[in-house]
Amino acid sequence: MADMTIFSKIIAKEIPADILYEDEEVLAFKDINPKAPIHVLIIPKKPLKDIGEATAEDAAVLGRCMLVAGKLAKNLGVAESGYRLVTNKGEAAGQTVFHLHFHLLGGRDFSWPPG
Ligand code: AMP
Repeated sequence: MADMTIFSKIIAKEIPADILYEDEEVLAFKDINPKAPIHVLIIPKKPLKDIGEATAEDAAVLGRCMLVAGKLAKNLGVAESGYRLVTNKGEAAGQTVFHLHFHLLGGRDFSWPPG
């Protein structure tokens, strides 16, 4: 399990965030330091540290995160143009907040492979 992170505080509404979606298991909010015109973080409320900590028990919530990302992309107007959905696991990938999150990035072009 993840230790208390800034995202736990956002889930607990102890610190503010620009929340775009919430249900019992999933929260989505705008990234505070956006890397693209659209940059939303989709997180399971369960404090998993990263994708490597997820187990079969978490399959449903992970699927829900993906579906929420797809819906938000539509609502935010980037479904047609395209978007990137990514999770960073560990320091080599650039993870800085150790509560599993998926980045939904859109509104510009992205290079592949990533730098
Ligand atoms: P990562 O580097 O994959 O761990 O991504 C963590 C993301 O969390 C970064 O893009 C940060 O800009 C974002 N972030 C950090 N603190 C906050 C916050 N209080 N509210 C919204 N996004 C945040």
